Amino acid sequence: MPGYELFGAQERKEVNDVLETGILMRYGFDGARNGTWKAKELEQEICKTFGVGYAQLVSSGTAALTTAMAALGIGAGDEIIMPAFTFVASFEAVLSVGAIPVMVDIDETLTLDPKAVEAAITHRTKAVMPVHMCGSMAQMDELKAICDIHKLLLLEDACQAIGASYKGKSVGTIGHAGTFSFDFVKIITCAEGGAVITNNEAVYKKCDQFSDHGHDHAGKDRGADLHPYLGYNFRISELHAAVGLAQVRRLNEFLTLQKRNHSIIKNTLEKVEGLTFRRIPDPAGDAGSFLSFFLPTEDMARDAVAGFNAANIGGNFYWYDNNWHYIRKWQHLQSGSWMHRLHDDMKKQVMHYTNQAFAMSDAIMSRCISSSISLLWDEAQAQERADKMAEVLRKVMVGNRVGA
Ligand SMILES: *Cc1c(COP(=O)(O)O)cnc(C)c1O
Repeated sequence: MPGYELFGAQERKEVNDVLETGILMRYGFDGARNGTWKAKELEQEICKTFGVGYAQLVSSGTAALTTAMAALGIGAGDEIIMPAFTFVASFEAVLSVGAIPVMVDIDETLTLDPKAVEAAITHRTKAVMPVHMCGSMAQMDELKAICDIHKLLLLEDACQAIGASYKGKSVGTIGHAGTFSFDFVKIITCAEGGAVITNNEAVYKKCDQFSDHGHDHAGKDRGADLHPYLGYNFRISELHAAVGLAQVRRLNEFLTLQKRNHSIIKNTLEKVEGLTFRRIPDPAGDAGSFLSFFLPTEDMARDAVAGFNAANIGGNFYWYDNNWHYIRKWQHLQSGSWMHRLHDDMKKQVMHYTNQAFAMSDAIMSRCISSSISLLWDEAQAQERADKMAEVLRKVMVGNRVGA
């Protein structure tokens, strides 16, 4: 999963380039920076690597989502349809622009069920936001068709799926805009950072301005910039961009290791009778950062988690009990625990949508375990882990049959 595991000489070299100049900011200081523009270089590298027209770096994936929404004109009272299984940042960003997150059920792809999306559309729906969870992808053809018919924006949260693709296109490049996160545990890291990617020049320009207090960046003198719109400070620093520049150039190296280790684990677990796997809309495009699988029942999934823990096999996530990734534990959202006062209408609408039943998602998530894939395992280590996992899972399957 994470690029931080292989942090090394390339990353240090890029950071040192910045330390040599002492210009840690991405804008201005043209003379003193001596030709060192890491953020700009990283944006160009992102466009090349993912086959997209424009990239705007920002300070986090959360900031990227907020920036993308602002640039797409998503705002007060707009409903954004998103999955009940994601990271909290996805709905935090929706709320940050005054819009309403409308959570809907996922299916066995572990992201948006197109039928649930269609059923949730109202006259207030403005966008659909698939989240490409755990290295794999949403059903983009189906979602794009729904967005086209209903004239909705399609914003891809690709924060967890850098390097994944769908039918030959990088995830994040298929909708009107997409976002990446480069936080410390993502597929590649800047320590902290994110990007909005888009093929729409006007959307990109707005992202460029929004993330830097509305500066139009039209001339050489920052002090003389005009501010066509309000913005915020979501800038990335040159130091962070430098780390990301080294990491994005190593993406293929990371993906090769990740996919190899993913295959070793999957090939072994496939032989465990009764175990089923996450449905991957385009298997060739899976980034391989996690292997997600289903036990036949919730009890068996819990037994498997306990079994992995007892056998000291780390990195297995049972999202159903996780405080960050599944709606069941988003009590702060469901109870409306804001620090600041919201508009009453907004609060009512948010709480209405987040306090729905998600029976279909519960039935899937309660049986699901996602096992993270390390870049540090050699083939023998990956195989050893796979064998240990299979042993635990077989015991769980048999134990249950005996008990039944
Ligand atoms: C990590 C993540 C984000 C937010 O990224 P940060 O850089 O941590 O702010 C958004 N969405 C998803 C799905 C993520 O996993």
